Amino acid sequence: MPSALAIEWPVAIIPDQPQGSAQPIDVRTETARTLAGRLRAETQGEVLFDAGSRGRYATDASIYQVTPVGVFVPRSARDVRCAIDIARELAVPLLPRGAGTSQCGQTVGAALVIDTSKYLRRIVEIDAEARTATVEPGVVLDQLNAALKPRGLWFPVDVSTSAQATLGGMAGNNSCGSRSIVYGNMVHNVLGITAWMSDGEELAFGPLAGLSGRAASIASFVRDLAQRHRDEISAHWPRELRRVAGYNLDIFDPRSVRPYSADHGVNLAHLLVGSEGTLCFTRQLTLRLAELPRARVLGVINFPSFHAAMDAAQHIVTLGPSAVELVDRIMIELSLSNPEFRPTIEAALLGRPDAILLVEFSGDDKATLLAKLKQLVTLMGDLGLPGSVVELQEERAQRALWEVRKAGLNVMMSLKGDGKPVSFIEDCAVPLEHLAEYTAALTEVFARHGTQGTWYAHASVGTLHVRPILDMRRDGTKKMRAIAEEAAELVRKYRGAFSGEHGDGLCRGEWIAWQFGPALTEAFAAIKRELDPINLFSPQRIVDPPRMDDLSLLRFAPPGAPHPYRVQPLEPVLDWSAWDVSNDPISQRISPPGSGGDPAHGFAKAVEMCNNNGHCRKFDAGTMCPSYRVTRDERHLTRGRANTLRLALSGMLGPDALTGQELRETLELCVSCKGCRRECPTGIDMAKMKIEVLAHYGARHGFTLKDRLIAHLPDYARALSRVCFLANLPARVPGLRQLGQRLLGFSAHRTLPRWRSDTFWRTHDANLFSSREAALQADKAAVLFVDTFNANFESDNARAAARVLKRAGYTLHLIEKQGGAHCCGRTFLAAGMLAQAKSRLSALLDALLPLAQAGVAIVGLEPACLLTLRDEALVMGLGVKAQMVAAQALLFEEFLAREAKAGRFAPSLKAAEAPILVHGHCHQKAFGAAAPLLEVLRLIPGATPQLIETSCCGMAGSFGYDARHYQVSMQMAELALLPALRARPEAIVVADGTSCRQQIADGAGRRALHLATLLDRLS
Ligand SMILES: Cc1cc2nc3c(=O)[nH]c(=O)nc-3n(C[C@H](O)[C@H](O)[C@H](O)COP(=O)(O)OP(=O)(O)OC[C@H]3O[C@@H](n4cnc5c(N)ncnc54)[C@H](O)[C@@H]3O)c2cc1C
Ligand code: SF4
Ligand code: SF4
Repeated sequence: MPSALAIEWPVAIIPDQPQGSAQPIDVRTETARTLAGRLRAETQGEVLFDAGSRGRYATDASIYQVTPVGVFVPRSARDVRCAIDIARELAVPLLPRGAGTSQCGQTVGAALVIDTSKYLRRIVEIDAEARTATVEPGVVLDQLNAALKPRGLWFPVDVSTSAQATLGGMAGNNSCGSRSIVYGNMVHNVLGITAWMSDGEELAFGPLAGLSGRAASIASFVRDLAQRHRDEISAHWPRELRRVAGYNLDIFDPRSVRPYSADHGVNLAHLLVGSEGTLCFTRQLTLRLAELPRARVLGVINFPSFHAAMDAAQHIVTLGPSAVELVDRIMIELSLSNPEFRPTIEAALLGRPDAILLVEFSGDDKATLLAKLKQLVTLMGDLGLPGSVVELQEERAQRALWEVRKAGLNVMMSLKGDGKPVSFIEDCAVPLEHLAEYTAALTEVFARHGTQGTWYAHASVGTLHVRPILDMRRDGTKKMRAIAEEAAELVRKYRGAFSGEHGDGLCRGEWIAWQFGPALTEAFAAIKRELDPINLFSPQRIVDPPRMDDLSLLRFAPPGAPHPYRVQPLEPVLDWSAWDVSNDPISQRISPPGSGGDPAHGFAKAVEMCNNNGHCRKFDAGTMCPSYRVTRDERHLTRGRANTLRLALSGMLGPDALTGQELRETLELCVSCKGCRRECPTGIDMAKMKIEVLAHYGARHGFTLKDRLIAHLPDYARALSRVCFLANLPARVPGLRQLGQRLLGFSAHRTLPRWRSDTFWRTHDANLFSSREAALQADKAAVLFVDTFNANFESDNARAAARVLKRAGYTLHLIEKQGGAHCCGRTFLAAGMLAQAKSRLSALLDALLPLAQAGVAIVGLEPACLLTLRDEALVMGLGVKAQMVAAQALLFEEFLAREAKAGRFAPSLKAAEAPILVHGHCHQKAFGAAAPLLEVLRLIPGATPQLIETSCCGMAGSFGYDARHYQVSMQMAELALLPALRARPEAIVVADGTSCRQQIADGAGRRALHLATLLDRLS
């Protein structure tokens, strides 16, 4: 290996530019060009060979970064087949990829990366009777399970990344879920695989009896090889269920405690499971389905010590649970500090345990499961821990706790500073009887190296995840090797498996020889030669792997590496100093803001928080990430944006990339919904990052007329409303909209907001408002902050809000401004005009400060505007006044909900004439203000308001008005919002966002109401 024909790793054409240098010139770039050209000419797929795309595919959820030759996103099976032929003819290696959530670097390499996740996601067949499903490799686990649920079935390899992980990737890694003690790993649940070999031939891998031709000869080859190595296998092969390293050479005589096939037969597809894309390219997989358990119960055992929890696991599994999952003290604390998880975890705790085990029993008969729960309680009493079990019988409570457990790793990764929990020995599997000793010994190893790890996950099968905190930019690589070597000794001592869940990749490939010995390592090489003799697929994985600490492969390479990671100096316009910190691995204490040594003053460190876990590729609940949901492009995804930013900030996309077109286009479809701010586990706040980038971009390139028109709207709104007849001409005169599109870029499909002369400022009832002094002295007082949009386009809302508050007895005050109205600066921020935004905000804060200091609530109607006071205003160098105002700034619904709880708001309302549907504004959701909205609506007699599960409505301020965005904007609306509205034509629709109401009017022809208007109407 490699043979004369073999394809070599084309390192020289790796187009990663060391620190901003120009594209390296190499004769073999010609090959890359030919490859791209042929892919474009001969396939229908997307061919992405630009520096940004390659950079986005250079990483996965590991510590590695290798720039691919190019990226290919096939639209069909034919495209893949064609790409294999072209790559082979040009001798360019090929690397299959699903969601890219691998933790060991399986999906990064200097190859042609083929991403199946965008188009190859067809569920080919579900045979409910035979309990099988056949899928394309890009189908996501949750997608399959959603289709299976109505049939009472599921695919039970329930990985934590179920919302992102593709079945092709899961098979590639031999993935395992929390319930593997009952259902096994992927290898136990794959029935067949059809795949292309490197010569382009398509083979069907399945049960031995059905094989013919080349597949049959591969089977004979493997059988002979295994027979020749019988003694080696028996001496070196771990018997753990969770062994995923190397190839499954043991298919003829499985060493796993669980047979690979339910009928104990040999299935050649099992050789491919766990092969990490190194043997062939999966076209389709046939999977074994399971019946969805009708009932589940959960016992949460609270342990006074971690050791006691580890020791108990071996006894607990004798009761036949479907899962036993660990959450340790650090993870408990981190979950308690997360407002979203706190109530859930609190409900599972008895006092302050050192660790908890989640023990689940599942089956068809609840009574039997409850009896099991009782047995668990008894067992814990026998083990000296009476009264330690919290019993969760209700499904919703169980689900909430599983969500906390599933989010465990992500919660842990939110640690700020350069020290991060690093994945490299995170899934060693040891026999249960040694779990307590093993974890204690490994904890000592960590301590010797000046670090610590957080433990969690699969206690049932002896695979505990642990990631010591290491600083990979400094001494992390040295410590990583030392810790890995000591951990390996422990694994050997306890006869475990070094690679027990996440695969080998770049990280654990070198440990295959350690685990299996030289003869079996050579046997694996023989398998590779037999199936992929030209070394086309994913070279240097499993066979001939690099060292785990090869400095040339690291994302944050330390000084001394071929391309050390170096951030370019930058003076950011926003204050990112909260990210510019360092941490202590033992105490996890964070140094003061601004002390982390970031040449970009925290902006780079904020961006680097993205660890590529791929959580933003989700399609389920929540908002993140609407542009990905409609495009399925890695570029239009929070992760893709964060990666592009990181590359730009570290000079890897060439000089001035921060203000270049690549980055600008990568951010183009980010609607600044702030979904990631709340939902990204590491707190990536792309909306804020976009403001930063747009400010630098504007400083270099200037702003367009359209940018200026939108940004300055608050300045000219009052004047234009005086001549609304003229201002509304574009809406009425045929052809003007088209002209607007041609000249300014506003979509001709849109109805622009209608200017009206009855603005709030001209028509409000002055009797409803009092002086500042009166507000300062009143027992019940509020400032009504009337934003530009509600003041000028929907003044009814602002007038209604004033009446509702006045009726409830509040002394209301309006802040006014000579010759105009105060503004929060939102429109300027959206364009990146920081100086203008800051001056408007500063004036607004000055006006509000005396009231805020006296504790008077500042109540706003438009989420995008009011919440600016609680978000961007705090990072614009506006000092303490920004903090004081932020502390009092509340949305109308937040204020009313708070007052209602305190017994100060109890309106007498009529019943609504129809059911109420609610669409939450993205910023409202990002700040947890959708719940108060529902609370207030429930004050309406008989009302049971229903929140539509939507991402962004797609309008997002001015985003949807832009002709370039119109289509994407409507696609976003069609994801959930518009279909939900069409399904309930009779419902009253409540939407507090101006742009949401406009989108609803445009897309569904319905008039949505602000909460204030509905309450006023029902008063
Ligand atoms: C936060 C977090 C939690 C995780 N939790 C779990 C867990 O609970 N259990 C678990 O087992 N893993 C877990 N993982 C690891 C990872 O999510 C899983 O391995 C997942 O199954 C990978 O799916 P993917 O689509 O991202 O595959 P990718 O990472 O894209 O690919 C995985 C492997 O499959 C190969 N491959 C992909 N498609 C094909 C194809 N068509 N033909 C041939 N080879 C192909 C790739 O080359 C690669 O080697 C976790 C990762 C993260 C970041
Ligand atoms: S942006 Fe957030 S959710 Fe997305 S991959 Fe990065 S860390 Fe994960
Ligand atoms: S702000 Fe919204 S659109 Fe932009 S990256 Fe975050 S989730 Fe995606």
